[in-house]
Amino acid sequence: MSFNIAVDGPAGAGKSTIAKRVAAALSFHYVDTGAMYRAIALYLIRSGIPPEDTEAIGNACRDIPISIGYSGQEQQVFLNGENVTGELRAEKVGNMASIVSANPMVREALLSLQRRLAREQDVIMDGRDIGTNILPEAQLKIFLTASTEKRADRRYRELLEKGEPADFEKIRRDIEERDNRDRNRKTAPLRQAPDAVLVDTTDMDIDQVTERILELYRERAVR
Ligand code: C5P
Repeated sequence: MSFNIAVDGPAGAGKSTIAKRVAAALSFHYVDTGAMYRAIALYLIRSGIPPEDTEAIGNACRDIPISIGYSGQEQQVFLNGENVTGELRAEKVGNMASIVSANPMVREALLSLQRRLAREQDVIMDGRDIGTNILPEAQLKIFLTASTEKRADRRYRELLEKGEPADFEKIRRDIEERDNRDRNRKTAPLRQAPDAVLVDTTDMDIDQVTERILELYRERAVR
């Protein structure tokens, strides 16, 4: 049976950075579910379907051809066979993903893909509803969080390092807005699963968080 690690938490908590490190240390596949929501968002943007047109989104979801592959450890997302991974981190794609991920038909469209990936291989999967909804039987569940200030500060520094324009206040507002949407939607809202371990990364660095998760993994894996 495959070993599944579920990592949930709000935007900017460091989920993908940490999950990639843990995946590399354990030779697991890292499954980035946010990238799948972003791929649907990209598809809708390209098709000119606005986020409020739930009927058109429902129809589109019936046959959105998303598939996942790996280049080494890096997850690649394909839309109709085209590798769109490089386009998914754009701000407008993230905003669209944040809005349309509240749509139950969008969530349904991705559920079986996510479960299949976890069934077939050892994975660390990050998202918002992995421990609560997608992989309720995951052997290890982590709820990764940090203060809003700290999460905004990390995004701000990340953008500056890439040489991109960054406005701290705007980043903080965006993060708060996305969290509110994720926490308050009806379908699969962002919640800590009762059996998830809370890891608050506000005063921890990447190495410390990675080590903490590896330690929790070792405890579970020897049972
Ligand atoms: O994590 P990331 O920022 O890439 O995710 C993009 C958006 O997709 C998030 O803002 C969130 O609203 C949504 N999402 C979700 N459930 C997941 C992963 C992401 O609702 N499992």
